[in-house]
Amino acid sequence: MYEDLSLDHFMEGLKKRTPGEPEFHQAVYEVAESVIPFILENPKYQQAGIIQRMTEPDRTVIFRVNWEDDAGNIRVNRGYRVQFNNSIGPYKGGLRFHPSVNLSILKFLGFEQTFKNSLTTLPMGAGKGGSDFNPKGKSDREVMRFCQAFMTELYHHIGANTDVPAGDIGVGAREISYMFGQYKRLAHEFTGVLTGKALEFGGSLIRTEATGYGNAFFMEEMLKHHGDSIAGKTCVVSGSGNVATYCTQKINHLGGKVVTMSDSSGFIYDPDGIDAEKLAFIIELKTVKRGRIAEYAEKYGCEFHAGKRPWEVKCDLAFPCATQNELDADDAKALVANGCKAVSEGANMPTTVEAIHVLQAAKLLYGPGKAANAGGVAVSGLEMSQNSLRMSWTEEDLEQKLKDIMTGIHAQCAKHGDDDGYMNYVKGANIAGFIKVADAMLAYGVA
Ligand code: GLU
Repeated sequence: MYEDLSLDHFMEGLKKRTPGEPEFHQAVYEVAESVIPFILENPKYQQAGIIQRMTEPDRTVIFRVNWEDDAGNIRVNRGYRVQFNNSIGPYKGGLRFHPSVNLSILKFLGFEQTFKNSLTTLPMGAGKGGSDFNPKGKSDREVMRFCQAFMTELYHHIGANTDVPAGDIGVGAREISYMFGQYKRLAHEFTGVLTGKALEFGGSLIRTEATGYGNAFFMEEMLKHHGDSIAGKTCVVSGSGNVATYCTQKINHLGGKVVTMSDSSGFIYDPDGIDAEKLAFIIELKTVKRGRIAEYAEKYGCEFHAGKRPWEVKCDLAFPCATQNELDADDAKALVANGCKAVSEGANMPTTVEAIHVLQAAKLLYGPGKAANAGGVAVSGLEMSQNSLRMSWTEEDLEQKLKDIMTGIHAQCAKHGDDDGYMNYVKGANIAGFIKVADAMLAYGVA
């Protein structure tokens, strides 16, 4: 007889083994809810303890990062790399620099990455890392010194065929460049060890846009599958970083109208829509000036709602593109009450478990991040391919490849997601992502 694999028993065991990791527990619960019934129907996975093994990272590296600020003070931060699972390829996943970063958050992100990377169909395992360093308010030289110090330790643990980090919240082109420069110095080699690089030194076209574009493509696929499209729809987007801005750009290309964007200080509501020109202002504001979204309201004379999230605004479609747990059960009820038809996640785990249940009970289409935002890591995978080939593909080529990958992810979700006529994308993504990794693990045997 195998160990009891009921959801409650499994979660109880996990929580006992990993106390104080609520975000990790939440991410595992969301997967286990749909994957455990599937495992019970397929005893080979239960027999090999696959879900128990998949919820324990291969290894976790935690290290001290010392750096000197502009005033000459020595500052200390904590650095991490969680190497979650390399069954189907080198560890792959972003680095997050944000004061909230801790082991629980990185384990949730690394666990999600396992399924997400599997869904892309590219040969990428899963990892995640980062630091509690806060780039906000730091000078460029301080960010450079921090990135160099961080890489001085991290470089021992990564490599183009071992573990390939990229960006995430707080880590963009500037930080990747500083870290890549330091890796190159220390390792004395030029390889595609990081993705999200600048075009001059091995970066890929479309990588910057990929997560946001991919999210809009995934929404378009969900709607198409149900006889509809983004054209003519009013859309609510949260966030104003890389994912939110390029999601908005692609929604515009597809004929939708985006009426909100946000940052940690509040959201702007522009009923006329954030068109290409206004979006260019936001991109400049956020990436060059590193300013606040409220400045958009001043410039264009629209409403700014301080300290609020945009989910009470009436919309057809919602795109949470900011951060984890930014959409709770009350927000979900507001979306349902206002007639929203579909939610597609640009961020990782932006919707709480309770909120997902509200959306699904109301039969909204709900695309979980591990499927809907996989476009970013997918184009990272294409950056790795281009680096290996020592060549670069065109923008048209890459956008087409991204589109095909998102269509393929939707098809995999649809294959496994049917729930009595309702398309349950959570179930579909979890089961499809699980099978590839689990089968690789089975093939390797237990060691
Ligand atoms: N941080 C992104 C994600 O959550 C991208 C990771 C990557 O490109 O490796 O998937």
